[in-house]
Amino acid sequence: MTRLKVFFTDRQTRADYNMLDKLEHVFRELGLMEEIKAGDKVMIKTHFGLYGNTNHIRPAYVRKLVDLVKAAGGYPFVADTCSRAYGNDGPYGGRTTQPEYLERAAMNGFTSGVLGAPMIIADGYWGVDVYKVPIEGEYIKSVDVAAATLDCDKVILLTHAKFHHIGIAGSLKNMGVGMVGKQGKSAIHCPDGLEVFPEKCLGYECSKCVSVCPTRCIEVSDKLSVDADKCVECGHCSSVCATINAGALVMRWSMSNMAERIIENALGVQQSIGSDKFYYINLAIDISDLCDCVSVGAPLLMHDLGIFGSTDPIAVDHATLQAMKNAKLNPASPKINDFDRLVESSQSFFKHGEKLGVGNIHYELIFLSKSK
Ligand code: SF4
Ligand code: SF4
Repeated sequence: MTRLKVFFTDRQTRADYNMLDKLEHVFRELGLMEEIKAGDKVMIKTHFGLYGNTNHIRPAYVRKLVDLVKAAGGYPFVADTCSRAYGNDGPYGGRTTQPEYLERAAMNGFTSGVLGAPMIIADGYWGVDVYKVPIEGEYIKSVDVAAATLDCDKVILLTHAKFHHIGIAGSLKNMGVGMVGKQGKSAIHCPDGLEVFPEKCLGYECSKCVSVCPTRCIEVSDKLSVDADKCVECGHCSSVCATINAGALVMRWSMSNMAERIIENALGVQQSIGSDKFYYINLAIDISDLCDCVSVGAPLLMHDLGIFGSTDPIAVDHATLQAMKNAKLNPASPKINDFDRLVESSQSFFKHGEKLGVGNIHYELIFLSKSK
């Protein structure tokens, strides 16, 4: 039996082996030059970063992958999905709709011209264009997979490896959060769904929630009501209702079992087209405690580590975390005292993921160098 492999190349560079050469090395070791067949549609799933977040992946890495996919004979396109928060303001704003997000992506340097391939928002204009995949999860029974995934022959997740408040934010998070629609994101962040309090509604004169509802399922003329059969729990209405402190439409944030929910979403994404279609590359550079979905380029927790690649999302994240644990931390980081907790809480991803068959923590780590 072939052992599962994680390829790793460190951050040491020279003129004939720079970080883009190293990315190509990982791509080739993953077998993608052979596995991509002529005409294959290949999604490069990444994150364009919020405006103000200066730690996100540089466009040159994405462009390099685009060129490699083309060289292999494939048809590449670059993708991300919308976020839940409504509007352009606030620490999570700017990704509500496709045009908003593409405009902000351009401000961060990501355009089709720069990348050499079409850029899409995989869950459509509102972020609710999805395909439902039933799974046997403990918390989630139906995963809201971004619809564009269905048309892919291969998906390469090019992930900025860093942390977020519940642990490592690597390939598993890029898949379990970044490849689902808004209802899928709500299933992680607000599992109780939308709560309606008609007595708190300011009435027809307000109506701010009505125009932001992508399924037009809110009625405020006599008394506030929501057609639950049509509601996709996108969170738009609760966002705008919260801005006026009315509290009539509420989606409560919950941290409960968040890692497990992300894993269950990832399982649904894998099952949508088959786990053998996915490849995972973690760029462990510019590593802070904050995710790229926050409009802050937080101080770095450690020095850059390098690039990890695998056909297994748990293996690649596990190997990345092991390297993070061995790295010298930046004493200037205000989160240095939170590091051990972040490492410890990351284990929930691996534990639940292995249990559900999303991946494996037993692998061979293969160091790549120029001579190989
Ligand atoms: S935004 Fe809130 S207060 Fe205004 S109409 Fe909608 S539910 Fe009522
Ligand atoms: S009612 Fe449902 S679908 Fe409409 S905006 Fe609110 S959460 Fe979204």
